Amino acid sequence: ESKLQLVHRHIRAFSDFPKKGILFRDICPILKDPAALTAVIDLFEEHVRKNHQHVELIVGLDARGFLFGPLLAQRLDVGFVLVRKKGKLPGSTVSVAYDLEYGKAEAEIQEDAVAPGQKVLLIDDLLATGGTLYAACELMKKQQAEVLGCMVVIELKELNGIDKLKSHSVFSLVQY
Ligand code: 5GP
Repeated sequence: ESKLQLVHRHIRAFSDFPKKGILFRDICPILKDPAALTAVIDLFEEHVRKNHQHVELIVGLDARGFLFGPLLAQRLDVGFVLVRKKGKLPGSTVSVAYDLEYGKAEAEIQEDAVAPGQKVLLIDDLLATGGTLYAACELMKKQQAEVLGCMVVIELKELNGIDKLKSHSVFSLVQY
């Protein structure tokens, strides 16, 4: 079995969560299985080493980006910073409002988290409409960081999230 097959096998779907009509892809089984989690980080690491050797920082999105981002950052020997939902971070922050697949939100980062010109990769568990990653890209623009690309475990193709992120490359392990 390949690493990708192993990852695939540890994603499950729930209908009508968190709202009727939504098919929710659940990544919890990946975290429960050490081999599957290692496979996810291996695949991300291979992608970064091949395509983004000069990355300086991994930026993880609230909340499931926090599960994979720090593990990847450690492998690459770079730092990890958090993009959080509004009101969770102390000190001076920068924020951007955005639309969710189901609702509205505001993404926030500490003002000193990223230095101007720093080369960053964004990571989250899943790309749906792209609103969340787009907001994070806007935050990076405000911080004058250089976004090398975005990485997700899962891409929901039919929602065309990559169109919203047009100028940024998106790498996904599993597509539905
Ligand atoms: P978007 O902003 O691209 O529409 O939605 C992506 C965000 O919503 C991600 O932060 C992701 O964690 C969450 N999300 C939306 N749908 C799902 C889903 O089916 N499964 C999981 N695990 N997360 C989802």
